Amino acid sequence: MHVSSLDELVGFLHARLDEDAHDAHLFHELACPCSVTPMRSAGCACPCPASLLAAVRVSEGILRRYEQQLERERQCGLVWPLESSLVFAVLKAMALPYELHPAWRDSWYP
Ligand SMILES: [Zn+2]
Repeated sequence: MHVSSLDELVGFLHARLDEDAHDAHLFHELACPCSVTPMRSAGCACPCPASLLAAVRVSEGILRRYEQQLERERQCGLVWPLESSLVFAVLKAMALPYELHPAWRDSWYP
């Protein structure tokens, strides 16, 4: 496991989740005024944007927790960073749905 590859994977995931959060606002119901001009829901009751955003927030929370774990282990300066290896494996699995993105690296396959 290379630290730079791990950091790139973290950055890749942040970017994809940001895109997913942005794209969630494209899925309003046809009758919703927000569907004419895609925008952040201003209190509408469309289920899809809210559901998609909730999933993104969960993934962001998981990613943040793993980043803190990585930082703690790096500060300890361990020779064999076991936790970071485990985190790398989980993050690769989290990133797999984005394997067709141009920034994807084949070394990230779980
Ligand atoms: Zn809506």
